[in-house]
Amino acid sequence: MELQDIQIPIPEYGQAVYDCLVSAGFEAWFVGGYVRDAIMDRPANDVDIATSAHWQQVRERCQQAGFATYETGVKHGTLTVVPDGEHPVEVTTFRADGQYKDNRHPESVTFVSSIQEDLARRDFTVNAIAYSPDAGLLDPFHGMDDIANEVIRFVGCADERCKEDALRILRGCRFASQLGFMIEPDTLRAMYVNKHLLGNVSQERKTHELDLLLMGAHPHDVIMECADVLAYVLPELVAMKGLEQRTKYHCYDVLEHTAWAVELAEPTRLVRWAALCHDMGKPASMIVTPEGVGHFYGHAKVSADMARAIASRMLMSQRFADELALIIRLHSDVLLANDKAVRKRLAKLGGDVDLFRAYVELKRADAAAHAEEYRQGAQEMDAVLEVLDEVLSSQGAYQVSMLAVSGRDVIAAGVPQGPEVGRILSALLEEVIEGRLENTKEALLARIRGL
Ligand code: ATP
Ligand code: MG
Repeated sequence: MELQDIQIPIPEYGQAVYDCLVSAGFEAWFVGGYVRDAIMDRPANDVDIATSAHWQQVRERCQQAGFATYETGVKHGTLTVVPDGEHPVEVTTFRADGQYKDNRHPESVTFVSSIQEDLARRDFTVNAIAYSPDAGLLDPFHGMDDIANEVIRFVGCADERCKEDALRILRGCRFASQLGFMIEPDTLRAMYVNKHLLGNVSQERKTHELDLLLMGAHPHDVIMECADVLAYVLPELVAMKGLEQRTKYHCYDVLEHTAWAVELAEPTRLVRWAALCHDMGKPASMIVTPEGVGHFYGHAKVSADMARAIASRMLMSQRFADELALIIRLHSDVLLANDKAVRKRLAKLGGDVDLFRAYVELKRADAAAHAEEYRQGAQEMDAVLEVLDEVLSSQGAYQVSMLAVSGRDVIAAGVPQGPEVGRILSALLEEVIEGRLENTKEALLARIRGL
């Protein structure tokens, strides 16, 4: 076993669990994403430890040390230990996965005696490095080289690794996006030829990986390089590829414009998904004039409908689907940086300030992904946000609940209960924002009576 004498920083809570196991005579190694991220000097997520101890032994030792323990995955040998009441550390017995029959779950897990065997079942070389503060770094699959060369590569036979657990196909895309790495050709080929096996993987796991892919720092290259892989879960991408827009505003086809919009967008779940879907309706709504100019009338609405269908397929919440569809439907409407325009758009977004900010970030990303001469829309969004701050600190109404009358007042004024009440309130709000009507009870009631 070849070890490298390299030190990486370990947080106190991780060290506490490590010490507890090692002082009891067990082997313990930090593994997985924590080690990879520490080597790359990236902020790390959770800390994982692989150990020679069986989970009952881990539980016994850790409880003696006064640490809380949770049986989160004991069937697979995983016990979660929370040494400081705050930071969970996942401790898993060295294991190898048994036969995979359904491209998803191993039929069984076998506990093995060495860290080397444990590392061999891991997905990518960059995730298969183990670290012990006492022994050093163990890297049998040359993950350090792949980190240095920025490469995502399967451990062992790429084709077999995809067939064992097809989710690894999306995990590969996700890590490429998060780390900004290239996918090694053999790994990429295996991902392409096995993508249909994603049909055997639960939607929740696929959605989780897509969320992480989209929120990564480098999604552009992965979306471009792996569009045909991602097409198994997002077939909408296929028609976007190669669709030349034939307008002066665009220097990319729809897929590449989208890939840039995603990468340039604020990395929150809603804005990134919105950036991915905002122009999906373009292939379906494209017309080309006899002069050869492209038009996409109504594409925002088509994209919004497609985004809603995707959200439902991805098992996202109804609220997320509604928000996604709404900001996409409005994404190509001009938004000027003045009080009236901002309040009106806020009103259209239900007065939801967070949603308005997400909407502005979508518009910013869309503008930034245009041809160079047409990117000024991105800076204009800064001016919009300044106006938003002024709107929020002023008394000006931007949602119906801020009107001086309520639905009850509208009904009392003789309007029958039902959707008409909401329509009247929205119309009143619009007039107030336009400055044609004062936001006082008398003025609004007089207007209702006059309607
Ligand atoms: P993150 O930073 O998102 O936590 P991670 O690399 O730690 O990334 P996890 O999903 O937390 O990823 O898994 C921890 C480790 O377990 C991985 O680094 C990898 O070694 C291994 N692993 C996880 N899922 C799989 C899988 N489907 N197939 C093989 N190994 C896996
Ligand atoms: Mg992890």
